Order: sequence, then structure tokens, then C-alpha cells
Amino acid sequence: MQTSIFSIDVEDWFHILDVPSAPTMDQWADLPSRVEKNFTKLLDLCSEKNVQVTCFFLGWVAERFPHLVKEAARRGHEVASHGYGHRLVYEVSRREFYDDVRRARLLLEDISGIEVVGYRAPGFSTTDETPWFFDALAEAGYQYDSSVFPAARGHGGMPQGRREPHRIGENGALLEVPITVADLLGKPMCFFGGGYLRLFPYWLIRKMAAQVLGEGRPVVFYVHPREVDPAHPRLPMSRKRQFKTYVNLETTEVKLRRILQDFPVTTFKSVLSSYSQLVDTHVA
Ligand SMILES: [Zn+2]
Repeated sequence: MQTSIFSIDVEDWFHILDVPSAPTMDQWADLPSRVEKNFTKLLDLCSEKNVQVTCFFLGWVAERFPHLVKEAARRGHEVASHGYGHRLVYEVSRREFYDDVRRARLLLEDISGIEVVGYRAPGFSTTDETPWFFDALAEAGYQYDSSVFPAARGHGGMPQGRREPHRIGENGALLEVPITVADLLGKPMCFFGGGYLRLFPYWLIRKMAAQVLGEGRPVVFYVHPREVDPAHPRLPMSRKRQFKTYVNLETTEVKLRRILQDFPVTTFKSVLSSYSQLVDTHVA
């Protein structure tokens, strides 16, 4: 079976996007943090299953809890970047984006002592409106990205985006490994992280993952530390967002255990070399 990729976006329970009640960066430090406990729980789960995964650290979190970055590296996980300030890509300028992702990379390298080559955007928020995204990332020293959501979604999404990993940017400088989508009843959806992972029963997730692997693509699984903490504080938001953000939190941990049991997973970094020689001649 083709190996899949497992990733954790390391941020706190209040790093919610696009909700009017979401606290701003100057308020974050005053909120009761739960990321240490929750991320450690995920690290322990990985140790129990003996797998190495990719940890996309938010720079702001890494700066406050550098021991979490060091512990992830010590356990053999990949330290990667979720940017510094958790701002939607399509809401910042190219320059602001570049400064944010460069700052996060240098910070994470400084803490971990290891080269950081991967990035994931907050809310998968690269869209057709941000055509400079890939070049700016390569300029900021990154070698791969996993931010393209090749279907329609709340924050952005790129419905026309390619689904398989591919080289992109000037001279194919960057490897893009999109978030995994699969078609259910003709509708492209992501079953492998976020609200749908919590909403759908495990048998369906497993079936859809097998379908993706059968198409020759790796499955990209992703989770946030808050998702294994059903008791974390809630932010006020619309009913629809509330459902998406908080539905079935108590099922995440059980599903993750089953995923790690049923599917061989690894880090993005370890698949990077298998795509490095690829000339971009793929015919979709
Ligand atoms: Zn995030």
C-alpha cells in the first residue's frame, strides 16, 4: 500500500479563522493555553503507534512553547511551519506574507536546530486570488507546501487545483502536496481532517482513503491539538460554524488511533525526494 502522510497543525484552541469573536493576536497571550497538554497527547499517540509525522508549528506557539518544538524533533517528527501570526493568505500582501513565513521558518530552525522546508497556510487559504503564493514561499526558503485545497470551501479553496502532488512555482521550485479530496456522490470532499473527519463514520473515511490510494495519490491526514480536547473552551459563532468547528470532538482520538492502525503514514519531508526528479509533464 502506498504510504500516506500524517500532519498536525500545532496551534491553540483560540486560533480559529474568520469568526468575528476570534481573539486578535494581542489578546492571545492572556487566554488559557491548552496546546501543551493537547499536542503532548498527540505526540504520545504517535509514539504508541511508532510513527513519525509532520508538525506544522504556528510560530507564535513555538515562540512561547519552544520545548514542544524540541520534543517533536527529539521524537523524530518533522518540524514544519504554519506561519507566524495565523493570518489568511488572501488577506495579506505578498510582502506581509513573505515576512510572516520567513520569520516562522527562521524561528523554528533556531529552536529545533534542523532545516525547516515545509509550510501549510492557515485555513488552506491560498486561492486563485493569490497567484504570488508559491513564488513567495520558495523565496522565503521553503521546498514544499501543503495548502492547496482542491475543492470549494469556506476560506478560499481552489476548485480547479490539481489533486496529486506536483511541482509548481518558478522552475518548479516548490513541491505542492494538496490536501486530499475524494468524490462522494460526485461532490469533492476532504474526509481526512477537520469537520468531515469528525462528522463521518470511520468505515467511510477508511473506504475513501483506500479509493485515493487506489488512484495512486498519498492521503494527507491532518489534525489540530484542540480536536483531541473535547472540553476546550468554545468561541461564540454562527450555528453553522459551531457545528463545523466542534462536531464530534470526542470521536477524533478514536479515529486517529484507527487511522494509524490501518494506514502506514510518514512525514512530508520523507516523500520529498521521491518527487524531486519529477519533470512537470504530468497529464491530468
Ligand atoms: Zn491553523
